[in-house]
Order: sequence, then C-alpha cells, then structure tokens
Amino acid sequence: MKHLHCKVFGHNYRVSRHVTYHVKEYTCYNCKKQLTTNGKGNLTELTPKFKEINDVLERIHQKKNRIRLKTDKVNKDLLLFSH
Ligand SMILES: [Zn+2]
Repeated sequence: MKHLHCKVFGHNYRVSRHVTYHVKEYTCYNCKKQLTTNGKGNLTELTPKFKEINDVLERIHQKKNRIRLKTDKVNKDLLLFSH
C-alpha cells in the first residue's frame, strides 16, 4: 500500500543526511527509497557505491571544517597579539 502511494502521488523525500554543503542524501518517508546528489548535482539512486563515495566526501568535508576552525582561532590569536 505504501509503495502504491508513491506510485500515485510520487515519493515523499526528506533529507536524511547532510554530506557536504552540496551533497545530501534523501529518504522517501513512505517506502524508504534513498536518493543522493551525484557529482553533477543531479539526484540519483543511493547505491552502495554512492554511499561509499558520500562517506569519503563527508570525512573530507568534516576535516576541512576542522581546519577552517583552527585557522579562525589562529587569526584571532594574531589579532590579540597585534594589540
Ligand atoms: Zn516512496
């Protein structure tokens, strides 16, 4: 019945994971079908291969954020120092 709902009304996708600013994973609220954003910015079915790619992307993205935070801290320290 739930799958029939999707066939009639279309999937009801919700963001289930933020991988990076541009890449997200979506899960259908009704049938749990999953989509993801591919390298071209299009939506595609979330296959195990894409899940793997997203895991790597997420790790790189988090690492970048951590470096940026560190850089901010250094800049603030430099500003304090110049006072
Ligand atoms: Zn669905």
